[in-house]
Amino acid sequence: MMRTCQKCGAPMDDGAIFCSNCGYQNASAETADMGGSYSPSYGQPSYQTPPYAQPVYDIYDKTASFDPKDISENKLYAVLPYLFSFLGVIAAGILAPKSEYVRFHIKQALKLYIMQAFALMLTALLCWTLLVPFAGMIFALAVIISCIVAAVQVCSGKAVIPVLTRKFSSLDV
Ligand SMILES: [Zn+2]
Repeated sequence: MMRTCQKCGAPMDDGAIFCSNCGYQNASAETADMGGSYSPSYGQPSYQTPPYAQPVYDIYDKTASFDPKDISENKLYAVLPYLFSFLGVIAAGILAPKSEYVRFHIKQALKLYIMQAFALMLTALLCWTLLVPFAGMIFALAVIISCIVAAVQVCSGKAVIPVLTRKFSSLDV
């Protein structure tokens, strides 16, 4: 059955609200049908964050994999590689040869120093460019900062892989 305008009686399209003849606002078919109070039920259960949500876990923080006793006993040696470069690496290796914790930090420090050595070589080779020596300087500074950060972390008994060496963290177990 054709809908007609309630005011002028002109035929109307099913979906139309305004009459194309007189402009009267007719109730649409849907609105007219919706006499009852129909409200869509919330079908899906609301998803809440699980109560067992895990704390943020830093994959580069390996502190948990070391013996707390080892850490507290060898902190002093673990800090040496970061403070005294290769000399510190050798000293730590001699003074605490059995400590896993010290070995971890020797590895991290060595990675930093090897990267720095490469950066120095590149800088020497490309010293005639302006950019490479500049980048080399920035990198040397970044290594020094990494060593200071790592030394501070060792003092608080942590074992965190320095940001600069994370690309090579697969070398660690
Ligand atoms: Zn009309």
